Amino acid sequence: MKIAILGSGLLGVTTAYELARRGAEVVVLDRQSTSGAETSYANGGQLSYSHAEPWANAAVLPKLPGWMLRSDAPLVLRPRADWQMMRWGLGFLRNCTPARADSNCVNMLRLGLYSRQKMAQLRAATNIAFDFSATGVLHIFSTQHEFEHARRQNDFQAKFGCNQKVLTREQCLEMEPTLAYTDRILIGGMHADMDECGDAYMFCNNLAAHIAEKYGVQFRYGVSIDRLVTEQNRMAAVKTSQGDVTADAFVMAMGSYAPLYLRQIGIDLPIYPMKGYSLTLNANEHCPNMSITDGTYKIVYSRLGDRLRIAGTAEFAGYNTKINEGRITPIMAAAKKLFPKADWQQEIKKWACLRPSTPTGAPILGRTRYPNLFLNSGRGTLGWTQAAGSAAIVADIMEGKTPEIMTLGLTLGDKK
Ligand SMILES: Cc1cc2nc3c(=O)[nH]c(=O)nc-3n(C[C@H](O)[C@H](O)[C@H](O)COP(=O)(O)OP(=O)(O)OC[C@H]3O[C@@H](n4cnc5c(N)ncnc54)[C@H](O)[C@@H]3O)c2cc1C
Repeated sequence: MKIAILGSGLLGVTTAYELARRGAEVVVLDRQSTSGAETSYANGGQLSYSHAEPWANAAVLPKLPGWMLRSDAPLVLRPRADWQMMRWGLGFLRNCTPARADSNCVNMLRLGLYSRQKMAQLRAATNIAFDFSATGVLHIFSTQHEFEHARRQNDFQAKFGCNQKVLTREQCLEMEPTLAYTDRILIGGMHADMDECGDAYMFCNNLAAHIAEKYGVQFRYGVSIDRLVTEQNRMAAVKTSQGDVTADAFVMAMGSYAPLYLRQIGIDLPIYPMKGYSLTLNANEHCPNMSITDGTYKIVYSRLGDRLRIAGTAEFAGYNTKINEGRITPIMAAAKKLFPKADWQQEIKKWACLRPSTPTGAPILGRTRYPNLFLNSGRGTLGWTQAAGSAAIVADIMEGKTPEIMTLGLTLGDKK
């Protein structure tokens, strides 16, 4: 069976891995010259399986009006004349009720824990390098209110097999001594010891090279997909800059761009691009060795070999990947306050890209109305974390098997 995977980001490459190792003939198409060159390029690096609280939750609601007026807010949602954005925004608000936030959280946690297992299996089977580390993620807090909220969330998640360790300020400093120089108030933290981190771009390319060599997966770069072609209620081909590509089955893994192409064939995905930014610098001895999530500024820090990756913010600006310095400045300012002795004089790499976000925070996996077209889409803020599990689920569905975990909340039929 020949399968064409549309998009060679984290979701495309991991799906190719799952299908190829099960014996399928796989071709992966991407407009870029390497795998992982768009949203999977310089993300926060965290494999934060335990981070399952969706952005849409009751605690976010009272903060939204203030955030909409502040240019340095973690989430900037400015109303504009864009129906898709308004629709996404309404879906987001609908998912902020405690009941919906809890059920979305449980669905994400189930996928997160499964992805941890699948990532461990993938690492063991392929032995690929990607600056992986398994020191967990340390969440730090500057206000009592946020700390209490995180502890309540932890109590909730503990019922589902995910318990983080609550730490005093001193215990945080013991765990990550470079925090001792911070200019910020730190009142405490939580350690998610099951979490990991690694470089997603390196992962994509080393996994692509591995499966090209081991299973003969064909990666066709520089191929721009123009249109999906259906015939008699089946996917027949994709029209590309290099001619038509036919296959027995197709997997849509084009990140934020998936809904634009699916809409042409009558499939409506509730995905909207949520822009995020990152900074990458060479680490010195005053940079953290472990991955950190700053719960107050919603910024993540990951040590990737000899580099420090800093990422954050959510901005709704349509399909625009330009770097807005006004959004970089608050990330840089927060990072300098947290790690004042890092080398801030060097040339720092700045990057921006679009997270394919759904209002629930959960992905959209599996079947569509076309029996030979499948989705691995809408991975939003946790696409790196949940890539390995999502790919295994999609491959199971394509093989006609029941996935190893319940897919409630993770399929097209579940999206409201
Ligand atoms: C700032 C930031 C920080 C993040 N931090 C984290 C983190 O710490 N942990 C985490 O788990 N997740 C994180 N994420 C989210 C994660 O990076 C994404 O969810 C993930 O990269 C999505 O992968 P994807 O394969 O769906 O999309 P992509 O990587 O964008 O892949 C889609 C591919 O499709 C190709 N494509 C699109 N359109 C076409 C076309 N017309 N023709 C041909 N090819 C096409 C693109 O070239 C691209 O390679 C972060 C995201 C951002 C922006």
